[in-house]
Amino acid sequence: MSLRVGNYKATSTKIPVMHLNNIVNVDLEAMTVKCEPMVTMGQVTHTLNKLGLTLPVVPELDDLTVGGLTCGVGIETSSHREGLFYHTCVSYEIVTADGKHLRCSKDENVDYFKAIPWSHGTLGILVGVEIQIVTCKPWVKLEYEPYHDKEAAIQACAEAFDSDIDFVEALVYGKGEWVLMKGTMVDVPVPEMVNAIGAGGFDHCCLCISALFGRFGPRPRAAPPTRVRAMLAVLTSSLMCRALCSALAIRMRAYRC
Ligand SMILES: Cc1cc2nc3c(=O)[nH]c(=O)nc-3n(C[C@H](O)[C@H](O)[C@H](O)COP(=O)(O)OP(=O)(O)OC[C@H]3O[C@@H](n4cnc5c(N)ncnc54)[C@H](O)[C@@H]3O)c2cc1C
Repeated sequence: MSLRVGNYKATSTKIPVMHLNNIVNVDLEAMTVKCEPMVTMGQVTHTLNKLGLTLPVVPELDDLTVGGLTCGVGIETSSHREGLFYHTCVSYEIVTADGKHLRCSKDENVDYFKAIPWSHGTLGILVGVEIQIVTCKPWVKLEYEPYHDKEAAIQACAEAFDSDIDFVEALVYGKGEWVLMKGTMVDVPVPEMVNAIGAGGFDHCCLCISALFGRFGPRPRAAPPTRVRAMLAVLTSSLMCRALCSALAIRMRAYRC
């Protein structure tokens, strides 16, 4: 996934690993999935979601691989609770430069287990990873909170990180233009507020942010589709409602977006 052209490896001996792309086993008792290193996030989520399961940390691009996320790095919006991708890995199998095939975990070959994350292939070729799995719900309720003040935004982020919210992400578009996004897994969606992943999700996000701050990058004036307009109306009214409630010192836990 690195954008760097790997010319510095031009004279190296390359070990082909492309064929190591199988999900070997889903263990529902141990709640782990065993993957070869070239298994992608897309493959894992397609396999696990059908079973009502997911990884604790799912880096968002479908093409990212288990090997790259372990030997490089992986982070996502659940990392405030779960840590980095490798914190959810239970064991690794590696073939070292001297040809040894080692299994590493917190109990076996512990030095390797601790050193493989971030090692970028310097310790050997990773050939297998056992990763924790967790149950999941089919929908995510997303809430957008705009902030015009840095201190308030940082405070809100800190509170979100310490809460039981499933997913937290913040975007900063400029001085005084912060958006905190909070996601919670839910069983049932609000039908008129559904935005399918990969089908208008970014538009929905852009339009929301555009409405919150009056601008967003290259597409500030796009006419929102009806369902987004409806959602923005709800958002605006609920934000006004929230301001009123704060003024009255009432803590509100309503559906905002
Ligand atoms: C546009 C873009 C968006 C990104 N978005 C996110 C994001 O949302 N979340 C996130 O966490 N990260 C993100 N990243 C960073 C990305 O997750 C890391 O660069 C990750 O390491 C890439 O994984 P990869 O599968 O492409 O691995 P590669 O880039 O192929 O490999 C990463 C490192 O691991 C080594 N490696 C890979 N497989 C093996 C193996 N089998 N044995 C030994 N060493 C191996 C490689 O040599 C390399 O050093 C993004 C990067 C880009 C360019």
